[in-house]
Amino acid sequence: MGTHDNGGASFGSCCESMAEIIQGGDDEEFEPLITISETGVLYMTVGLVELDGDQPGMMDHAIFYCPFCGTNIQTPEEVAAKSGGES
Ligand SMILES: [Zn+2]
Repeated sequence: MGTHDNGGASFGSCCESMAEIIQGGDDEEFEPLITISETGVLYMTVGLVELDGDQPGMMDHAIFYCPFCGTNIQTPEEVAAKSGGES
């Protein structure tokens, strides 16, 4: 147990653009569509889905490469392991 527990992930270390997204900026009105899940997987909201008779939901997809600089930030294997290994 260290003082630094972020699941071993260090998203945002690849470039400034990603770092800003991860940190969320100082602007409270800034809602990034790129989020880190509780399990430490980096997700990007790719669209809205209409649920039957209910409020729209967000459709997320795991990001494997940084959309800004192209760095490989996580692998499908890591994502699968972190999300509980659903197959
Ligand atoms: Zn990057």
